Amino acid sequence: MDIENLLMQDLNNLQEIANLIRKGSVGDTVHIRALMEISNVCFRNCAYCGLRLQNANLKRYTMPLAEIEKIAKQSFDCGYKTVVLQSGENKEYDIEKLANMVERLTDYGLTVTLSLGELSFDELKTLKNAGAKRYLLKFETADEVLYKHLHRGHTLSQRLNCLSQIKNLGYEVGSGFLVGLPNESVKSLALNLQVLKDFECDMVGIGAFIPHKDTPLSYCNSGSYETTAKCVAITRIILPKSNIPITTSLGEIGDKYSLFDGGANVIMINVTPRMYAKDYQIYPKQMQDVDILKDRINIEKIILERKRMPL
Ligand code: SAH
Ligand code: SF4
Repeated sequence: MDIENLLMQDLNNLQEIANLIRKGSVGDTVHIRALMEISNVCFRNCAYCGLRLQNANLKRYTMPLAEIEKIAKQSFDCGYKTVVLQSGENKEYDIEKLANMVERLTDYGLTVTLSLGELSFDELKTLKNAGAKRYLLKFETADEVLYKHLHRGHTLSQRLNCLSQIKNLGYEVGSGFLVGLPNESVKSLALNLQVLKDFECDMVGIGAFIPHKDTPLSYCNSGSYETTAKCVAITRIILPKSNIPITTSLGEIGDKYSLFDGGANVIMINVTPRMYAKDYQIYPKQMQDVDILKDRINIEKIILERKRMPL
């Protein structure tokens, strides 16, 4: 069945199939990743994102490398195997110094995933050589015209080129898209899913678009829970062995944990100190206090209650 056809199917049916495939392909383990939002400085102007350069209504921060290292190691000591370092696209860190830190974290036993936007081939290579194992760069939409419209001065092919370089350097490739962008159609969603398949992504993050008041898309509606959940299920069907996090932004509009029974096998838990995280508003989100150990114990409990194995 082609992807457009799958998108027309009933959500419950898709989730049932995705759940069976997930069980057979990646099993009952749920990978818990520590997410650190290391800097909200960004040079880009993505129309949907609260961190965009033109949003002057935001206090900007960049975490010192020593603090990142300390929290990452603390996360490891609390049971996390992977830390995901995420930021706006910027030049805040010296790549050599960042690479040295990645190396120290890798030596400590952590797997490092990076999500720092489009970097040059040389920068990506330096970080890979330092031990970074995965890179997450969503293409956001595979509709060329819509991409250009949402990312003035940038093109989809630049984005996909960067993804190819990431793959060629031997990173595990993470990508994905947003559900609910304006002018989205079943055709464009099908194209998004096809691109994930063509890239044979190791990791797929599908976000539900949530409008942010200080962006040009403030007037838009949020992406639909149902469509997002369908895209997650279809991803599991077309990429059976991929790692699929539950969609964090779905937590703002519904029960994100239900995706564990609809294809997902990964969750990211925010370990960013609250004093920084409160300003990492890519979309408006409810802020909770962060206690790395307590949060870790809590998510393990939730996963066990769902008869799955936390890792
Ligand atoms: N700057 C890097 C990584 C940080 S942004 C990058 O853009 O690749 C991480 C993700 O936030 C983006 O990939 C995008 O999919 C998501 N995002 C941005 N604005 C959003 C919004 N309004 N609603 C939901 N997700 C959003
Ligand atoms: Fe910057 Fe990423 Fe937000 Fe775009 S999505 S404005 S690159 S942080």
